[in-house]
Amino acid sequence: MIRSPHYTDGHETFRTSVRRFIETEIAPHWNDFRKEGHVPREIWRRAGELGFLCTKTATEYGGGGGDLYHCLVVIEEQTRAQASELTFYLHSDIIAPYIELYGTDDQKARYLPRMARGEIVAAIAMTEPGGGSDLQAIRTTAIADGDSYVLNGQKVFISNGHVADLICVAAKTDPAQGAKGISLLLLETEGAEGFTRGRKLRKVGCKAQDSVELFFEDVRIPRRNLLGGVEGKGFQQLMLRLPEERLIMSMSSVANMESAIEETVSYTRERKVFGQRLIDLQNTRFKLAECKTKAVLARNFLEHCIDAFIDGRFDTVQGAMAKWWSSQRVYEVLDECLQLHGGYGYMTEYPIARRYADQRLARIAGGTNEIMKELIGRTL
Ligand SMILES: Cc1cc2nc3c(=O)[nH]c(=O)nc-3n(C[C@H](O)[C@H](O)[C@H](O)COP(=O)(O)OP(=O)(O)OC[C@H]3O[C@@H](n4cnc5c(N)ncnc54)[C@H](O)[C@@H]3O)c2cc1C
Repeated sequence: MIRSPHYTDGHETFRTSVRRFIETEIAPHWNDFRKEGHVPREIWRRAGELGFLCTKTATEYGGGGGDLYHCLVVIEEQTRAQASELTFYLHSDIIAPYIELYGTDDQKARYLPRMARGEIVAAIAMTEPGGGSDLQAIRTTAIADGDSYVLNGQKVFISNGHVADLICVAAKTDPAQGAKGISLLLLETEGAEGFTRGRKLRKVGCKAQDSVELFFEDVRIPRRNLLGGVEGKGFQQLMLRLPEERLIMSMSSVANMESAIEETVSYTRERKVFGQRLIDLQNTRFKLAECKTKAVLARNFLEHCIDAFIDGRFDTVQGAMAKWWSSQRVYEVLDECLQLHGGYGYMTEYPIARRYADQRLARIAGGTNEIMKELIGRTL
């Protein structure tokens, strides 16, 4: 499937170990995690022990020293095993890079090795009840007072929020300013007075992913936990990271398209209607041919983008295109595949039903598709 020269035998070996771990230690328990509404800490520790967390982080900080293809392999394998919503990528490939790229030496040394070992789980908290797309409008404040910042405000929909030990919080250190007043602060949750987590939110899909509200009431964060040590850089840091984050999110869309098509081909080969196999009807083959074409185009663009990223040629517009296009196509593909399953497709014990519910999120989280088109449109 993957043809890029950047994808090597080393990635394949890595894939074999990831697949074994997911098949034997995660997939058998996945329904329990869905019922619990989160992935237990032991799984994070085990993933860390096996080297499956922070695979792109530099080895000097305990990471794997890998690249975006390592991230892709983990996402593909979890998707194949019907555990699409596992958030290792969020911890490893979205949050760890903030610390690695922008953090002070002290911040990198304190957090990255523990994140790589799975000893601490990380979350990122930008979105607030007042709005998510308009990040400049956030109202959470972090006001300097002596050796600390005093954090006040509220966040919503925060993934990993129920289990997180370390939360990268976007807050205004200068509320009089817009984007230039935003900073990112690293909040250690253990023993943090004034910090509370809301209940796990009930969602349409992604049931094993804990999404919560977070509340901050005069929470003290030491000044040394201001990411990078300079105030007012938060908005810029977020904007610079978002294109890669969107590319990572499109990996899940592509992997879900491919898995759903494979499952549907197999289902329609088995299912008999009016005395013949469902796949023998021309409509089935036409629908699956359309799905397959969308998946192949999405896969090609994804790999083009990953290679561009590795070669330093990736930009905001490509990130926005990858995210909106793949999340829209996966939605269409999953809808057609579900339809081909008939009533069984609507039953949650069938993977297609869960994929359909889980993947709907892709058009919203990490910046909605409307915002993606806005970003592309500005450059026309
Ligand atoms: C399950 C889940 C997990 C999430 N995880 C996290 C997380 O870990 N951390 C985090 O910080 N956030 C997280 N989010 C939040 C997510 O990023 C936001 O929901 C998203 O950015 C949209 O913000 P909003 O919900 O406030 O919608 P709004 O911004 O209120 O948007 C509402 C509608 O208006 C449209 N719209 C807004 N502005 C424009 C515009 N300029 N032009 C055209 N249309 C526009 C949007 O596209 C959307 O259709 C998560 C969300 C969900 C559902």
